[in-house]
Amino acid sequence: MKDQARSLYVHIPFCQKKCHYCDFVSYEGCDAQVQDNYIDALLRELAQQKEHLDEQLDTLYIGGGTPTVLLEGRLERLIHELLSKLEMSEGAEITVEANPGTLSRERMRNLKDLGVGRISLGVQSLNDMELHELGRIHSAQEARDAIAALLELDYSVSADLMCNIPRQTADSFAASLGELLAFPINHLSIYDLKIEKQTPFYRMHEKGELILPAEPVADAIEEVKTRLIDESPLSRYEISNYARPGFHARHNTVYWQNKPYLGLGVAAVSRYGDLRRTNGASLSEYLSADSQEGPFYVTNEIINEKMEREETVFLALRLTEGLNLSDFELRHGSAFQFFYGTQAAQIVDLGLGMFADGHFRLTNKGLDFSNHVLSLFV
Ligand code: SF4
Repeated sequence: MKDQARSLYVHIPFCQKKCHYCDFVSYEGCDAQVQDNYIDALLRELAQQKEHLDEQLDTLYIGGGTPTVLLEGRLERLIHELLSKLEMSEGAEITVEANPGTLSRERMRNLKDLGVGRISLGVQSLNDMELHELGRIHSAQEARDAIAALLELDYSVSADLMCNIPRQTADSFAASLGELLAFPINHLSIYDLKIEKQTPFYRMHEKGELILPAEPVADAIEEVKTRLIDESPLSRYEISNYARPGFHARHNTVYWQNKPYLGLGVAAVSRYGDLRRTNGASLSEYLSADSQEGPFYVTNEIINEKMEREETVFLALRLTEGLNLSDFELRHGSAFQFFYGTQAAQIVDLGLGMFADGHFRLTNKGLDFSNHVLSLFV
């Protein structure tokens, strides 16, 4: 991978309150001065790293954390400053992640005026009991109102939904998903709840206090998910992602296609040339790198040919379209079968993958067992 990045990720590590399941890098209750210092540091990091960006960008993604928790005018200043320093290509995708509890109408209008066209909204559930279990700061009604207001302002809306929430049933999941799909959203991500270390859920789980859906309930939730999506205008294009035709997440697709990207902010990762660079994982580390005028990255991993090849396969097979065989050969010098013929044959024999239309892809069954299947390639 020698070319420069046409995609930029910016991490905002602040949240109003930590959700019980979350291990993302984000901090509660940071004041205006900390936020200002952080934005200034992001802009200095951009100046340092700009040489790794192409002349024009196709995607800009501001995620977190909760970007919309930034106090008045700050998210707007950040986006304004970024866009004044970057050139976006025609029709570029500009996404901001938002939490329904922190998204005012005024901010929706401001972001739209700045050129943001896509909002990725953390809905997680449209059931108040489940939202409470998760420790979310918003109600189901606030999520519904936020979606309706965003659609009214003509945003392309992507929603995140979670399954296997404590005490969730197939019926309650069906109600959330059905209601969400009744809105004309363009994109949906559905994730299984994962119990991550260093979270309140992990500690509760260790003590046996977390009531997770039993296996038959989880299976019923999976069935409901497949059925309701099949009946909707959205279709699956990645293990956990669904979109209307033409509305797949262009930014995330850059990751899955193992193309270059630049990441700014606490714990952000950048991938360009033969390097993967990771920034300091805490706010204090990041701000202290800034006060010493950088660099902001703390690891600088060299990606050799073999690693790059494995990552290309591993990431592409997350997509329903799979791995483009001629692109692979062009990029890695020999055919996919030359490197992975044995694994591919095994996967095809088990009905977990197939060759079709110049691609190697996983079947639905293969996508359901993706952890196992993908591990064969690394
Ligand atoms: S809002 Fe998102 S980033 Fe913030 S704590 Fe909750 S899940 Fe984590």
